[in-house]
Amino acid sequence: MPFNLRSRLAERHAAHLYRQRPLLQSPQGVRVQVDGQSLLGFCSNDYLGLANHPEVLAAFTEGAKRWGVGGGASHLVVGHSSPHHELEEALAAFTGRPRALLLSSGYMANLGAVTALVGRGDTVLEDRLNHASLLDAGLLSGARFSRYLHNDVASLESRLDKAVGNTLVVTDGVFSMDGDLADLPALCAAARARGAWMMVDDAHGFGCLGQQGGGIVEHFGLGLDDVPVLIGTLGKGFGTAGAFVAGSEALIETLIQFARPYIYTTSQPPAIACATLKSLQLLQQESWRRERLQQLISQFRTGVATIGLELMDSATPIQPILVGSSARALLLSAALRRRGMLVTAIRPPTVPNGTARLRVTLSAAHTPEDVNQLLAALKAAVAELPEQNHD
Ligand SMILES: *Cc1c(COP(=O)(O)O)cnc(C)c1O
Repeated sequence: MPFNLRSRLAERHAAHLYRQRPLLQSPQGVRVQVDGQSLLGFCSNDYLGLANHPEVLAAFTEGAKRWGVGGGASHLVVGHSSPHHELEEALAAFTGRPRALLLSSGYMANLGAVTALVGRGDTVLEDRLNHASLLDAGLLSGARFSRYLHNDVASLESRLDKAVGNTLVVTDGVFSMDGDLADLPALCAAARARGAWMMVDDAHGFGCLGQQGGGIVEHFGLGLDDVPVLIGTLGKGFGTAGAFVAGSEALIETLIQFARPYIYTTSQPPAIACATLKSLQLLQQESWRRERLQQLISQFRTGVATIGLELMDSATPIQPILVGSSARALLLSAALRRRGMLVTAIRPPTVPNGTARLRVTLSAAHTPEDVNQLLAALKAAVAELPEQNHD
């Protein structure tokens, strides 16, 4: 029978891989109302606590009064309004790149950039742990597509040696499910030595890394020649919505001409750009948010070590606890929830088989007391888990 959806869904259930959406009944924040329960949240990507910041909200409201709600048309028709343009100029200055292009989401920015730059007869090389949107973009481009071992320069080099046509090397800056940093100085040098271009998607680095929150390229001091294509998303550290590509004049003009996910979609509501202009200001100026994050990260890591859980090697607000089996990850997540803590279990295919985890994320809006509460709940939740069986 065609389209046997029930059996597909039943299989997913049986494999402990069924997805459900927690219903959020409050704004983003450290304390959230979810499915009728009040919880302390440790799984949002609002790392700096800007998603519901009063000044960002005010900029959004003022923006809506001045510019209305809808974007109205695509950028190339009559949807490119002054706030969009102003934000692009601010993002170019922020990233130290000649230009930036604003898109409606990170997923679209990645599809747009990769497919505009490479196609049939070219090569795209990606870290095997890249975000799904980057992998999809590589496949959609029609270029020869190959994945190198995670953060492994030798593995990249062996693929670069076989590459044909224009070659694009694509990596997450901060890996979204692991929290570790791409070894950009070495990866960029390998790409440059072979005339390949580097594209870095720093969705989780902007706002968190670098003195000014300029992300992984600021952290490592990498310029336009090292990373010709730089992607940032605005729904995480920035607390708003959308994404940008930063790079040369010629790159941005090429995207305006050829990036289909840029061309064939309505511009984001201009009021969102107004809000992002404000959050960009806060993100750059209020470095106490990054300092607070660093304190919470070390507090959390020290605490978890004493519980005997396996943390991943991460210096960022993404602090996953490796569990292994999906069933066990779900049990741990449920046990935390009974104790008032919201931490979602991340399972395959989002992460490789056998590496299900609890993806704990910290925010500058958390207090040390919040982290203590999480640590206490973790300790109790782990104690009540059944003995590990190898499923
Ligand atoms: C979240 C994420 C995206 C997608 O960005 P959206 O704006 O949410 O579509 C892209 N890349 C990475 C690495 C991400 O974590």
